[in-house]
Amino acid sequence: MENQNLTVPAAEKVLSWGMTHSATSPVFTPSSAEEVKKIFQYAQTHNKKIVFRGGGCSYGDASLQSDGFIVDMSLYNKIIDWNQITGVIRVQSGVTIKQIWEFIIEKGFWPPVVSGTMMPTIGGALSMNIHGKNNFKVGTIGEHVLEFTFLTPEGEILTCSKNSNEELFYSAISGMGMLGCFLEVSIKMKKIYSGKLDVIPVPTKSLQEMADYFEANYQTSDYLVGWVDAFAGGSSLGRGLIHKADYIPEGKDPDFKNNIKLENQNLPTRFFGLIPKSWMWILMFPFSNHLGMKLVNFAKYLSGLILTKPYQQGHAEYAFLLDYVPNWKFIYKPGSMIQYQVFLPKETAIDSMNEILKLCQKRGLVSFLAVFKKHKPDNYLLTHSLDGYSMAMDFPVTRRNKKALWDLAYEMDEIVIKAGGRFYFAKDSTLRPIVAEKIFSKETIEKFKSLKKKYDPKQILESDLYKRVFLS
Ligand SMILES: Cc1cc2nc3c(=O)[nH]c(=O)nc-3n(C[C@H](O)[C@H](O)[C@H](O)COP(=O)(O)OP(=O)(O)OC[C@H]3O[C@@H](n4cnc5c(N)ncnc54)[C@H](O)[C@@H]3O)c2cc1C
Repeated sequence: MENQNLTVPAAEKVLSWGMTHSATSPVFTPSSAEEVKKIFQYAQTHNKKIVFRGGGCSYGDASLQSDGFIVDMSLYNKIIDWNQITGVIRVQSGVTIKQIWEFIIEKGFWPPVVSGTMMPTIGGALSMNIHGKNNFKVGTIGEHVLEFTFLTPEGEILTCSKNSNEELFYSAISGMGMLGCFLEVSIKMKKIYSGKLDVIPVPTKSLQEMADYFEANYQTSDYLVGWVDAFAGGSSLGRGLIHKADYIPEGKDPDFKNNIKLENQNLPTRFFGLIPKSWMWILMFPFSNHLGMKLVNFAKYLSGLILTKPYQQGHAEYAFLLDYVPNWKFIYKPGSMIQYQVFLPKETAIDSMNEILKLCQKRGLVSFLAVFKKHKPDNYLLTHSLDGYSMAMDFPVTRRNKKALWDLAYEMDEIVIKAGGRFYFAKDSTLRPIVAEKIFSKETIEKFKSLKKKYDPKQILESDLYKRVFLS
């Protein structure tokens, strides 16, 4: 068979984004569909497992493969076509959200869905079907995809849309990269007038107050996100701060020509005009413990009570707040971190989230950063979204707390299962098969497995996440 002579790179250590998982494996870096095809052929003939990797921004083990090859798609990164009239962009799947927004903003467009970081690739974003702070309004990224080409492990290239190969369309998007490789993707961008958003900060005393605000305002908001002080207990349990943001309508921004310029969008390089961004995590380091983070969360809540005036903020600043501090995750060193994000139906969400916050406090393992969002259901096979709310919680992982943290995650799983909730593979580090079986219906898991058999009959696509949740 051809391509048996593909040179296999030396193994290297690759980390998950949260630095908790790792794999030491050969990493291929193809820059064309032909090269990906050759890797598939090689894996088929040599009985090797492979996983794709985009920006490596999944918190857990989604883009790791410890017993095979990692195929890093980040060099497959050309913007192929742009239509100024329709706002449709066609890109290779290794193109990042950063590349896209920087390319389109001065043309008067913005990506319809972005994550809290701009570093994911489109292939990675589709595989997990990412959501933004506007999920309640515009759905997940899949809703904005017009078409993609898809290379199956058998070497076939299929064109998928909502009207053609629709079963594959709705399962490859959300399919954790387990059915094949996204090649070229066409996505419709959102037309914008100004480079700024109108932002309103709203402090809230409890999760219930936060949810009430979301319910009262979601129909008239473009973006809504809540930060939650996970350390606050007693009558302050679930207190937080909402940031509502809206596009500025045409004619309402006298400085729109200036505001939309790329140079005025980019995140500042220094804090307070003085401290280089790259130093910031070092300054945050002394606070990276239970007491320090309790203080930081309290200070944030306090500032939310004082700074209540509406203001304007650039799209990038609002969307990618976490990118403000490069390498902020290093504050968790010499340990690492995981994120545990729960998705709960709106009827049970607040009670269950309160229960989760109390449980974390009782166990002495409190989330350093907790974020609240509103969602809406969609039709993607392994969807995480539903008609309700999510709370994403960042936890430090140390050698000493790891066992207790995993036990806590299992306890929280029970609360989520009982409440009819879901999880999100992009954020997951702790999920077990027994939980996956309860959150997805039996039919959903069987359908996914039968699609996997159809498109990947030799089962060469396998991530550490897939092994952990579906095969172990
Ligand atoms: C700071 C931070 C904030 C975040 N905020 C959000 C948020 O607000 N909303 C949200 O939804 N997510 C969020 N995420 C998660 C992130 O958006 C997802 O994990 C996303 O999938 C990462 O894309 P990636 O390109 O880095 O893919 P990776 O993490 O490298 O891989 C993700 C999956 O995609 C597969 N894959 C990658 N490329 C391809 C391809 N070409 N073809 C087939 N499969 C492929 C991989 O095998 C893997 O299963 C955040 C992550 C971080 C680190």
